Amino acid sequence: MKIAVLSGKGGVGKSTVVASLAALLSRNQNIICADCDVTAPNLGLFFGLTDKNFTKREVSTGLEAELIENKCIKCGYCLDTCIFSAITWKNKPVFNRFLCEGCGSCQIACPSNAITLKPVKNGWIGTTETKKFPIVMGQMNIGKSGSGEIVALVLEETDRIAQQRSIDWTLIDAAAGISNQVITAARAADFIVAVTEPTPAALSDLKKTLSIVKHLGTPYGILINKTGINPDTNKQIKKFTKETDSSILGELPYNTLFIDALIKTKPVVTLDTNIEKQFKTILGNIMKRV
Ligand code: SF4
Ligand code: SF4
Repeated sequence: MKIAVLSGKGGVGKSTVVASLAALLSRNQNIICADCDVTAPNLGLFFGLTDKNFTKREVSTGLEAELIENKCIKCGYCLDTCIFSAITWKNKPVFNRFLCEGCGSCQIACPSNAITLKPVKNGWIGTTETKKFPIVMGQMNIGKSGSGEIVALVLEETDRIAQQRSIDWTLIDAAAGISNQVITAARAADFIVAVTEPTPAALSDLKKTLSIVKHLGTPYGILINKTGINPDTNKQIKKFTKETDSSILGELPYNTLFIDALIKTKPVVTLDTNIEKQFKTILGNIMKRV
């Protein structure tokens, strides 16, 4: 069973939720976590683990255009073809490796076979162990593209380890937003937890997230974090859930202990029995739906 935790807006507490659900679930289940926020992975930090604790391997999921100078007849067709503005002209085409998406249009347009597409190392994936379960994470290199493909590799490695160790539960920490990497993570899930907070921006982004989730047809529930900071928007979220026939998995009142947990690099459920109880209710509500 794979549970993905998503949020439209960043900073609503998605990784906090994953860390606490993982801490609770791992008490009596074999679990694995996949940190699929490959632009800013941080799930390991909730268990006192940094990049250095991960066994890594470089991955190459993208392509970059490169000029074969002695073949170029300087016709300029490639310049007109690139919709990503990755080519400029300095007596010859110059390819910007940070802007190139490796789409290959310029290669097709070139009448002289003067452009090659070479694989580019665009990130790494790594594994580590907490005291109770493994975490797999991916990190995209700065200025590179291919986040969805790196997420797919993280999920592939997660599945491999899960199968090897007969692990039944996978928790996926997705990136915020509705980008390719989020959709790749959401597609892999059997159930989705959509985390939001009572702010107009988070509500607006929740609607975008749910439009994707509904399109995928994956069962889901909504978790409202930081309740109490804005009662009016809280009401609006509840109105929205009724209108869309969505279920609320739980509400987590705003509490500075969530910040303490970040500072202490621990899941917040380990700091307070009341918060632990709230997360147990949320986990119970997820279990009823999966
Ligand atoms: S491969 Fe695509 S993005 Fe890269 S330079 Fe060519 S046309 Fe532009
Ligand atoms: S299309 Fe090919 S031959 Fe023409 S300028 Fe570009 S690289 Fe050179």
